[in-house]
Amino acid sequence: MPSLPRSPRRPWQPAPAKREYVQHAARDSRYDTARWQAARKAQIARCPCCEECERQGRVTAATVTDHIIPVRLGGDFWDARNHQSLCRACHQAKSASERTQIAPRG
Ligand SMILES: [Zn+2]
Repeated sequence: MPSLPRSPRRPWQPAPAKREYVQHAARDSRYDTARWQAARKAQIARCPCCEECERQGRVTAATVTDHIIPVRLGGDFWDARNHQSLCRACHQAKSASERTQIAPRG
């Protein structure tokens, strides 16, 4: 099964010391499970168009199942109510903006 590429780490940057700063996708083994593949397909089947593009008046085929509230920030991984269909561009834009958010402590 193909896996998502890990983001390249620049050699002069220290490795992340704590798990809370680790990015999602590549590190969460739940993405590799058959259960997630099924949930992902179910979401795209339920909602085949990108929901973010739809909000902006565009119609784009969704290819990614996204967590509305990032799992890293306390969103439920498996709850379908926390899933939305996105196209690749919208998912990348959303992930990029989430990268600047810090996970809540405790
Ligand atoms: Zn989109």
